[in-house]
Amino acid sequence: MSAKIIRGSEIAKTIRQEIAEEVTALKESHNIIPGLVTILVGDDPASRSYVAAKNKTAGVLGIYSKQVSLPADTPEETLLQTVAQYNNDPQIHGILVQLPLPKHINEANVLFAIDPEKDVDGFHPVNVGKMVLGEQCFLPCTPHGILELLARSGYETSGAEVVIVGRSNIVGKPVANLMLQKRDSGNATVTLCHTRTKDLGFHTRRADILIVAAGVAKMISGDDVKDGVVVIDVGVNRVGETAEGKALLVGDVDFESVRKKAAAITPVPGGVGPMTITMLMKNTLQAAKQTVGA
Ligand code: NDP
Repeated sequence: MSAKIIRGSEIAKTIRQEIAEEVTALKESHNIIPGLVTILVGDDPASRSYVAAKNKTAGVLGIYSKQVSLPADTPEETLLQTVAQYNNDPQIHGILVQLPLPKHINEANVLFAIDPEKDVDGFHPVNVGKMVLGEQCFLPCTPHGILELLARSGYETSGAEVVIVGRSNIVGKPVANLMLQKRDSGNATVTLCHTRTKDLGFHTRRADILIVAAGVAKMISGDDVKDGVVVIDVGVNRVGETAEGKALLVGDVDFESVRKKAAAITPVPGGVGPMTITMLMKNTLQAAKQTVGA
């Protein structure tokens, strides 16, 4: 069997087109331009490139974006004041604080300070709580992107054995939760694995849909999956440099051995990554629409 490649970059392109059209329509109907502020503290190169990509995508879609860069030694109080400033700025509908923050800043204090109505990353406890309860809210971007990848590629989660490797607050736990919801994009039987899981392979080999978000390069091989599995590889691991001097990235899944058994698989790069940024744009649009009840 040779797997179908689920090209997140292509699916993301389609969704971005839809967002751009809605942005234009919102401007025409309500004279509102969705606004996103990205706040970066410090100069971590990976964070800088993520923020740059988010601002670039916003610009392409007609979303107003503002980038705030603060030095690494910014006191927590100053960052909280910056967040408060954008909570009160009517031009800004979405606030994104790029993680991780420097160690002297309490991440939870900062995320909790964002107005839940502008929490386009979906990390505020109000939005996390609503997500768990199945209420309308901003969904966290990577998990939401994974749901869209599956739905738009025609893979049903209802009744499926979904096995997730990794239980972080930004990927594993919310994916598990969304897959459990009693609605079309959920209704799965969910197993959530982590470093204390006994016999990981026992679980991964049972999966109809396997979602791997562990941050360990190529940890899942062909021997760890069953024939016909659908694999979503969230991992992004830098394992060197390309001949052109760019970061060489691999996923948490050994693509070559797994693709021989899988029905479908996402590549790294070009799989989940483009969906994450796209869902951020979708949330920013949603935040702007909510201000006018559109
Ligand atoms: P974290 O480091 O926060 O969490 C990793 C999780 O994986 C933990 O729950 C950990 O278990 C589990 N884990 C690690 N090693 C193993 C193992 N050998 N066996 C079983 N479980 C294991 O990572 P994130 O969730 O933030 O990110 C995961 C990966 O996804 C990273 O490569 C990251 O770069 C990537 N990522 C990609 C995104 C994208 O848009 N493409 C977005 C976000 C993340 P325990 O809890 O027991 O420690």
